[in-house]
Amino acid sequence: MTRLRTYEELTAAWRALRLLGFRVREVACVGAPRTILVAEYGDPNGPRVSLSAGVHGDEPAAPWALLGIARDGLLDPRCAYRIWPCLNPSGYLAQTRANAEGDDINRSFTRGGTTPEARAVITANRDRRFALALDLHEDFEAQGCYLYEPLRPDASPRFAAQVVAALDAAGLPVQGLDGDFDLGTPAGVEPPYRLERGAVLVDAELELRVFPGLPQSMFHYRRGAQPLTFESPRPAPWDDRIAAHRVFVTTALAIFVS
Ligand SMILES: [Zn+2]
Repeated sequence: MTRLRTYEELTAAWRALRLLGFRVREVACVGAPRTILVAEYGDPNGPRVSLSAGVHGDEPAAPWALLGIARDGLLDPRCAYRIWPCLNPSGYLAQTRANAEGDDINRSFTRGGTTPEARAVITANRDRRFALALDLHEDFEAQGCYLYEPLRPDASPRFAAQVVAALDAAGLPVQGLDGDFDLGTPAGVEPPYRLERGAVLVDAELELRVFPGLPQSMFHYRRGAQPLTFESPRPAPWDDRIAAHRVFVTTALAIFVS
């Protein structure tokens, strides 16, 4: 990649997908001078899937990968998708993790939402629950890919092993996780997860108790969805990061519809 493509290029590319049957619109961010792009696709009567990327503005491969996944026909049309192509437009423009007000949107899905972006998502989803919610990220500290799979009490992981196997099969780097890897757990708190190679298996009920601001994934979890969060290694070559998100989304969807 020779330069980071602009937010305008991303939104134009999404609007062009209207020709492929994507219903693309902008929703207002109440209290902030910006809008967020949202797209719908697939069979409205199918199982509901939420897809999102770019909640952190300095993780650019995630929104561009999601665009390519949609454009290239990798979304099983039997599902009903609500897609948030770039949840943090002001952060994308400034290449910052936080939004223009300096807030981490992915810690703001508490109550009705404590940022304009989270409020827009929560309002749009008020009458809709999802079975699966995939959120695409990048990690500056990682050398390989990994996912978070939050588990309900006594549930076994359904996605992690197959996603890691698919990444391996594609020759993509998988993060070896150990006790020293920083997952952002607040200091002094017992980590609410179990680590495997390439996977963080989250005790969702414990996470709900220890995290002060709710991530989007746990907002969906509380409304009955299985959330999955994917991280590509930010230092890796662009094309590998794009490929990693494609492998993740297609593998997770294949498991979901099976
Ligand atoms: Zn992130």
